[in-house]
Amino acid sequence: VLGFISVITDINELKKTTEELKVSERQLKQLLKQKDDFIGIASHELKTPVTSIKAYGQLVQANLERAGDHKNANLLARLNGQVDRLISLINQLLDLTRVQEGKLQLHTEDTDINELLHERIEEIQPTTSSYFVLHPEPLPLIKVDRERIGQVITNLLSNAIKYSSPDTLITIGSATQANGIRVSVKDQGEGIAEQDQQKVFERFFRTTDGHTHLAPGMGLGLYISAQIIHRHGGHFTLESKKGEGSVFSFFLPFENTGSSIA
Ligand code: ADP
Repeated sequence: VLGFISVITDINELKKTTEELKVSERQLKQLLKQKDDFIGIASHELKTPVTSIKAYGQLVQANLERAGDHKNANLLARLNGQVDRLISLINQLLDLTRVQEGKLQLHTEDTDINELLHERIEEIQPTTSSYFVLHPEPLPLIKVDRERIGQVITNLLSNAIKYSSPDTLITIGSATQANGIRVSVKDQGEGIAEQDQQKVFERFFRTTDGHTHLAPGMGLGLYISAQIIHRHGGHFTLESKKGEGSVFSFFLPFENTGSSIA
């Protein structure tokens, strides 16, 4: 009888706990939604003033250069560089909101991926002492969102710079496979421990070892990149060894048969 009573009490306890849990689960969902809404609204509101700061900054820099005031023009150039960084952080937050609301739109067009790789390397090269070597294989045109795939490439190049020593070699390759295209970015940087290799594609995840804390970032770039590649029906692969470097590669199918991620 005592055993029976104790089971009854346990069940009642369990019910009570489940009830409490239900409430807190609802509250938790509400809080998460509030947090997501806040990120969306704040980044949207920040975008307009920061974009106009950038426009004025560029104007003043051009005026100073024209007037021969190189010292102040240089200062303005630095300020504009920081504004660019701010804009890219805001854009990442806006993309995060788009991904979460299923509103990341793709505008696909026939694209020469080798040309895109070349463009993005040229764009980033002046900002770093690291050097890039591109080993392109001839590729057919592929229907993708050029801007978004360019964003993924720039993210991989910029990570390869950020998480490696200066003056390092970064090797980029492209290849055709049976039903699609593969692009890889190989660095000789700090590498990623095995237990973190899946996590780097999660939002806000940054490794805690190495020099990550010294490099700027919010842990969103790879999450957004992976979502962009998934939306194209493709996937990411990561091979890495702590202390030896990483190879990030993504596969894009010729035919996008749809992805499981909205
Ligand atoms: P962020 O660079 O802004 O932190 P990412 O989503 O691009 O965000 O990367 C997530 C984390 O993965 C980084 O913080 C870093 O710890 C790790 N990581 C990304 N790329 C590399 C790389 N090439 N080498 C070593 N670690 C990397």
